[in-house]
Amino acid sequence: MQNRWKDTEARKLRGLDELVYRSLLIGADPNLVLWGGGNTSCKLMEKDFRGREVKVLRVKGSGSDLRSVQADQFPGVRLDDVLPLRDREAMTDEEIVAFLAHCLVEPGSVRPSIETLLHAFVPFRHIDHSHADFVLSLTNNTDGLKHTKAVYGEEIIWIPYQRPGFALSKQVAQEVEKNPKARGCVLEKHGLITWAATARESYLTHIEFNTRAEEYLAERARGHRVFGPPEVTPLPPTERHRCAAVLLPLLRGTLQARRRTILRFEDSDDLLEFIGSKKGPDLSRVGAATPDHLMNTKGWPLVLPPPRLRDQDGPPELEEAYEREVREIVEAFSEEYREFYEKHSRGDLPMLEDAPRVVLVRGVGMITLGPDAQAARVAADVYRHTIKIMAGAQAISSYSSMSPREAFDAEYWPLELYKLTLRPPERELSRRVALVTGAAGGIGAAIAGRLAAEGAHVVLADLDETRATRLAGEICAQSGPGRAIGLRMDVTREDEVRACVERAVLEYGGLDIVVNNAGVAHVSPVETLEKADWERCMAINATGHFLVSREAIRVLRRQQLGGSLIFVTSKNVLGPGQNFSAYSVSKAAQAQLARVLALEVAEMGVRVNMLSPDAVFKDSGLWSEQLRQERARTHGIAADQIEEFYRKRNLLRAQVRPEDVADSALFLASDRSSRTTGCILTVDGGLREAFPR
Ligand code: ZN
Repeated sequence: MQNRWKDTEARKLRGLDELVYRSLLIGADPNLVLWGGGNTSCKLMEKDFRGREVKVLRVKGSGSDLRSVQADQFPGVRLDDVLPLRDREAMTDEEIVAFLAHCLVEPGSVRPSIETLLHAFVPFRHIDHSHADFVLSLTNNTDGLKHTKAVYGEEIIWIPYQRPGFALSKQVAQEVEKNPKARGCVLEKHGLITWAATARESYLTHIEFNTRAEEYLAERARGHRVFGPPEVTPLPPTERHRCAAVLLPLLRGTLQARRRTILRFEDSDDLLEFIGSKKGPDLSRVGAATPDHLMNTKGWPLVLPPPRLRDQDGPPELEEAYEREVREIVEAFSEEYREFYEKHSRGDLPMLEDAPRVVLVRGVGMITLGPDAQAARVAADVYRHTIKIMAGAQAISSYSSMSPREAFDAEYWPLELYKLTLRPPERELSRRVALVTGAAGGIGAAIAGRLAAEGAHVVLADLDETRATRLAGEICAQSGPGRAIGLRMDVTREDEVRACVERAVLEYGGLDIVVNNAGVAHVSPVETLEKADWERCMAINATGHFLVSREAIRVLRRQQLGGSLIFVTSKNVLGPGQNFSAYSVSKAAQAQLARVLALEVAEMGVRVNMLSPDAVFKDSGLWSEQLRQERARTHGIAADQIEEFYRKRNLLRAQVRPEDVADSALFLASDRSSRTTGCILTVDGGLREAFPR
């Protein structure tokens, strides 16, 4: 366990700054805390709003993450207000939350952690609390107390499992007083607490206790196959990805009966070893390591047998019998979950989703689910650490978890359920995945950004991978981590299109919206048009859209969730332009492809529509300097007059912007146009010769 403390850095820090420093050190180690887990505190003398000296507990705010926590995420709580609570017999979580709101030093600061009372009641200046993997391996087994004592002796206090709250806070404080020699406290199936008079010592004790657990476990794990012999050999990487790419959409569709989700796929060696081991499937059913872990992974994962592909040429497909099996296993999971709920429910709380958050596919990897990519990632991180905790526990004994009743109470903890209600409402395209081709250009980028702003996860595909990746980064910064990726795609190359769609599926689990936007223009009268230029336009503007649509439809068919295909065509489809044959003809082919597709895919609820923009210049990759000059020549005007010329020729005298096209794309992508297919929507300011008819 790495000691990250640096005296040279810490020496300059005092009070709250020192607490932030120490918290970030704990947050930097995923073996200690993950995604919002754990909390830290210190007790300080501060001046209140009237300038009086008061004792203040600075404690991590609820919902903040130790890896990135900042000073304003440590609300101050007046200790003189909080400490008398120790005399009370009981308090509900709601009462604690309401009470603490009155004790805040800064009114309106973030809500203090639910473990605030524990930090307040334990009479030491600095306190660190983590959900450390090594300590959990010591506690989460059938001989937890024995092993914990073997490692720490009298230096640590053992607290049997109970859910965080008033009773636990009081119990820990009482035990600390009874055991003056103790330097820390192990909470069964929860984590580690250490304390000290200085920040440095509190942190170093935390690291020391973890290191001692780590060494104890490592010594006993040596030469020991903790998960038993391998039972299923992992498939080679390309095979795994091929299988996952067909399995993910099937799973996404099968789980849709509950709610549409974003799926994430991982296949690291440690995962494959666990999933393929003899004991893995049974161990996975034992339960989550802590209440905190359980909130992200649910009590147990769904386990699938190794996928079986059909023996056929062409694109890979799962055997029908395997598909049936998957549906049955998903159904069995739901049934088991409903039974679990009914057995333990007191009838006061509605049932949460009866779908898994973690799916283990033997021989292939792990799939995690969530309302968005970030939630799926958190579930994946937490489950990988759960496997590590299991490995440690198996090295010394048999992994154990909360009882079903305790697990139910953890999952249906009213305070956590209340937190869910505080989340902002989901957006129109939340839980959906969009693929946009030509995404680095003006129209493509605007559409990608618009769909993401409405909640979609977006795959930006373009020949210019650098720009696509940069735009994806901007979307993530604006809309949330993991919300977009940029990929290289040459739409004319079958292999690149296939690889790109596969990547999209592995990243997010499937597809819902496809925007066929990549395009190229060429100006020349037919008489002098080169064959190569004609063919290039046809390859990109027609064949490219066929290739992308074909791959996408295969995904949509496996998913059975409907979908929306949007073709960004051109005004030239309806009103052809002189000296513009290669462009106009290839765009007309694209439009006809869209119409035929609308006929073919309607039976699976997939809609296909077209946009017909005109003269969108801003950030355009299509409107090169050369194209501007050539079109100006055709219209008999100067090149610098071209934007004005196009603006004035439409009925509304309006300049058509990428955002205008993006708004129309949003309409066609969303359920707002659920009764529209095979349709062309103009975004051209109104052109009489290009009225659809
Ligand atoms: Zn905790």
